[in-house]
Amino acid sequence: MAGPVLAWSEKKDLLLELLGGGAGLAEALRSSLKALVLAGGPEAASEAEELAKWADEVLLATDEKFSVPDSSVFASAIQDVARSEGADLILIASTRFGREVAARLSAKMRVPCMTGCTSVKAEGGRLLIERTVYAGRAIARQECPSLPCVLAVAPRAFEKPAAERNGKVRTVSLEVPEPKLKLLSVREKELKGPRLEEAEVIVSGGRGVEKREDFAMLEELAKLLGGAVGCSRPIAEDRGWFPEWIGLSGRKVKPKLYVAVGISGAIQHVAGIRDSKVIVAINKDEEAPILSVSDYYVVGDLYQVIPALIEALKRRKGQA
Ligand code: FAD
Repeated sequence: MAGPVLAWSEKKDLLLELLGGGAGLAEALRSSLKALVLAGGPEAASEAEELAKWADEVLLATDEKFSVPDSSVFASAIQDVARSEGADLILIASTRFGREVAARLSAKMRVPCMTGCTSVKAEGGRLLIERTVYAGRAIARQECPSLPCVLAVAPRAFEKPAAERNGKVRTVSLEVPEPKLKLLSVREKELKGPRLEEAEVIVSGGRGVEKREDFAMLEELAKLLGGAVGCSRPIAEDRGWFPEWIGLSGRKVKPKLYVAVGISGAIQHVAGIRDSKVIVAINKDEEAPILSVSDYYVVGDLYQVIPALIEALKRRKGQA
């Protein structure tokens, strides 16, 4: 029997996913499942109560130093908890901040660390991991060499939990070090429509879309499908039309439907969409790589195909 599986993320929805995947791992390791909440204020108590439904125990530590996103402070706190609980498997959501914390934590604990895990399975006492490598060109299957270990798990790699465990919240007090960073201000990102990671449908545009105004078509299509609009990296980074993009270096998404409009399907883009349930591509080039990763595609000019699709959907909804 191994020590507990300990899950932490700075994001509640991702912590829930870790509990979803952690449940199966705890069972396979014949161990327990604990969630860790590190909060800057008392408001986290209700969050901890909610999480307790899906864990054997939720450990709650509150200290205003956790209001500052300093990865060394978080790593130190998780190390203390991991040590006192005898945790063997530490699951951290692989966000930008989470990866930083995971790396620091494994260095402090002198244990292995694997980031960007897209699958984690415990089989016959072995911990088998899949990770995307070489800029998304390949998937590496690896075995975690020893326990304890720290795994940074990609968002959406695990499903949210299904079986209730109805654990309890336990308050823990920790010696939290002074942050080395000073938080000057926090600004919310402007979001139109659902967040990309949560959207069930994404209509995404690439360099085939010539002008910013032409994205209105994609926005209309997304609205009709009840989804969000995304884009490839050059649209956000070079043209500055959107604050974020989809792909290896951007958002990794897992919608039920991903519509790639005027996107060539470069490997770095595909790395961010490969877990979509259905991929539909609209591209005028019949050799475009996106077609080979699509479930359905239309070879045609997006300026004809998108208005026709909008028209057809409106007719179906009785709006035309
Ligand atoms: P293009 O490759 O120029 O493709 C445009 C497509 O539109 C073409 O296939 C063309 O046939 C089609 N088209 C043109 N006109 C029409 C029309 N009228 N109707 C229909 N189709 C039309 N990219 C990402 O997207 N996400 C990432 O996370 C990412 N990370 C990267 C990380 C690194 C380290 C590097 C080096 C690159 C990264 N890139 C990323 C960039 C990536 O390599 C590609 O350059 C980029 O994805 C191409 O964007 P695109 O498909 O929009 O443009």
